[in-house]
Amino acid sequence: MTERILVTGGAGYIGSHTILTLLNAGYEVVVLDNLCNSSQESLLRVEQICGKSAWFIQGDIRDRELLDDLFSTQQIDSVLHFAGLKAVGESVKQPLDYYDNNVSGSLTLCQAMACAEVFRLVFSSSATVYGEPTHMPISEDFPTGVPTNPYGRSKLMVEELLKDLAHSDPRWSIALLRYFNPIGAHPSGLMGEDPNGLPNNLLPYVSQVAIGKLPQLAVFGADYPTPDGTGIRDYIHVVDLAEGHLKALQAISHKNGVNTWNLGTGTGYSVLEMIRAFEKASEKPVPFKIVDRRLGDIAECWADPSKAELELGWKTERGLQEMMSDTWRWQLLNPQGYATKRY
Ligand code: NAD
Ligand code: UDP
Repeated sequence: MTERILVTGGAGYIGSHTILTLLNAGYEVVVLDNLCNSSQESLLRVEQICGKSAWFIQGDIRDRELLDDLFSTQQIDSVLHFAGLKAVGESVKQPLDYYDNNVSGSLTLCQAMACAEVFRLVFSSSATVYGEPTHMPISEDFPTGVPTNPYGRSKLMVEELLKDLAHSDPRWSIALLRYFNPIGAHPSGLMGEDPNGLPNNLLPYVSQVAIGKLPQLAVFGADYPTPDGTGIRDYIHVVDLAEGHLKALQAISHKNGVNTWNLGTGTGYSVLEMIRAFEKASEKPVPFKIVDRRLGDIAECWADPSKAELELGWKTERGLQEMMSDTWRWQLLNPQGYATKRY
């Protein structure tokens, strides 16, 4: 029988790409999203690409009544839980919103799942839970560190909550997926990242500079102990990340308890390398200036992805230039993001 997956936050950047992968793999998908940081247009684009659609419910993961109703009317087998707030800077200014959405929201979701006896959950965690490790690459057995902001702490709190939950009841099967830096877009140019207002993350910012929407990029620090002085991260194509979710979902259907997997490429690139690669893909200059370090940033962060390869049979397939050209295609075809008229 076809499995039905509830995807919270499915209208968002990573959720929508994952839904496409799930529909292509033959799953049925129910989306719950309050659209606080997304548009339902992303789901129409999914349908345009694959000819199949997800069932959409506009609502909030903190709404227990809605969740109970959803679980009692839909035969849900597993939950992919993307819903949450993700802007680091905003989390410093509005910590209560972050703990409410990310921690209370996850708690309410788990309570409703337990009540409905749905025990399979894939959670969107982040490499930020490692804090500032002393060496690279980062493997899953590294201790979790001290995240430097409420967003990171909310992710760590949910991880702890989920570990306690799985410990209390062996029926739970939970995947904690620690993402490194998701970038890129679907190769069709129909789906991609559509940040509200000024982008916080490097790639959306670079791409808006290349297209002329923003005058120049501020490079946050060139005095790190890295070869060119700028910060190094492990950038992963969002379609590879989506495929990692499919593999994790399949793995936890025959694995109980909590399993943690890094989803990264294993290679780090500096900010300057990223700028150069984007200029090559777009054939546009990306003017930048070096400014002070951003508070809370670490010098370098990249994954040891070998556990996911061994246990999930998953590894990334898309390289840096592909990430850049897919981002650029999305930017060119959708200068207003999902508000751009469909062609
Ligand atoms: P996104 O903002 O594009 O997607 C999140 C979705 O959740 C949005 O559609 C938003 O409307 C929805 N949402 C937020 N609060 C909700 C609530 N209370 N109820 C229902 N829906 C709600 O973000 P994304 O980049 O797709 O990230 C997805 C998940 O992955 C998030 O949990 C994020 O913290 C995590 N993550 C993202 C990154 C990254 O760099 N993008 C890195 C590590 C982890
Ligand atoms: N960065 C930058 N300018 C920007 C945004 C980011 O120099 O406008 C740098 C940042 O300091 C880090 C890297 O780019 O070294 C990736 O930052 P991003 O916010 O995308 O992801 P993070 O790793 O901080 O979650």
